[in-house]
Amino acid sequence: MNELITLERTKRMALMLNVGLLSIHVILFLLFYLCNVTFLVCVNVLSILVCLYSLLRVWQDDLRSFVQVTYLGEALHAALAMCVLGLGPGFQLGLVTMLIMLFYAEYVGRCLELDYVFADPLALLGLGLYLAGVVFSWLRRPFYTLPRGVELGLQIYWGITVFLCAITFLRLFVHNAFRSEAKLSDQVTHDKLTGLPNRYYMSAVLDRILEREYLPGYWAAMADIDNFKHVNDTYGHNCGDYVLRTVARLIREGAEQAELCRWGGEEFLMVGRVEGDMHPQIAKLERIRLKVMEHPFQFEGQKLRVTLTIGVARCGEDMSVSEWINQADQKLYQGKCSGKNKVVS
Ligand code: GH3
Ligand code: MG
Ligand code: MG
Repeated sequence: MNELITLERTKRMALMLNVGLLSIHVILFLLFYLCNVTFLVCVNVLSILVCLYSLLRVWQDDLRSFVQVTYLGEALHAALAMCVLGLGPGFQLGLVTMLIMLFYAEYVGRCLELDYVFADPLALLGLGLYLAGVVFSWLRRPFYTLPRGVELGLQIYWGITVFLCAITFLRLFVHNAFRSEAKLSDQVTHDKLTGLPNRYYMSAVLDRILEREYLPGYWAAMADIDNFKHVNDTYGHNCGDYVLRTVARLIREGAEQAELCRWGGEEFLMVGRVEGDMHPQIAKLERIRLKVMEHPFQFEGQKLRVTLTIGVARCGEDMSVSEWINQADQKLYQGKCSGKNKVVS
């Protein structure tokens, strides 16, 4: 779920929107009263009542009714204003504003797994009201004529409102979409327990290296925790997880520039470039092994000894990625069979 969208935040937004709409209708009420547009004075009294009703809906956590009532109330208000005043004051832009909010409301409702309003039918209804308003104001002259200054003021007001609303809500959509995508991509390519990249990510890295570069310029080291099953069986799974997290951190610190991933359960794969011969690399892996062996592992008061066996292989001429990784695995196997806690190259 998107953690930016919470029920509390959504309710606050709904309340703010409601108070905003209420204020607009009070202002329009006064404006139409002063301009003697009696019909719209009455319509705005009704709109104020609708706002108060939808305020109550938010209060009672009924966001679905809030969205429906608010959208229908505002769309109807805009359509009636178009019929009575013509297109000059720009009330049709109010319909677009509500449309944007309607789709955002559906998005939020879905994110929060609420009983959301499906936007399309209401959006089509909005289109119908818009067309009705346009045709009606084309067929008939406006019932009332507002002073030119008031008409201009309303035009500007609706223009600003629709732009600000589009900017705000479309920005929220873009922001949320990118955040969700980044989060998903992170979940797909990283291991949750250790925070390291996973095998899927490393396979992509290896494929990229294979596409671009000469593989014999690379080494791979497969590190496996010794007797890890014993750790789980003796101290429990949580302790096993603690050991995995700690070993991952120690390898991360020691592996420096190498690419590192959690290849499988308690196996970590490192891949790096060879500069000259392999001795400096082997020495580095040796230091990692010692660092793990000497680390004071302690879980719930119990001291543990943890060791690693590491198999290293340099990529040979004409080797495929899987042959290369298999060779590192075979070296690891040799290490396991010959007493563990060693680096075999
Ligand atoms: P060896 O020295 O030969 O590598 O023996 P081992 O016991 O380390 O290897 P084995 O393959 O027998 O056992 C690996 C264990 O790792 C088995 C599995 O339950 C455990 N394991 C795999 N993933 C996790 C994990 O995420 N958390 C924990 N706690 N254990 C895991
Ligand atoms: Mg093991
Ligand atoms: Mg293993």
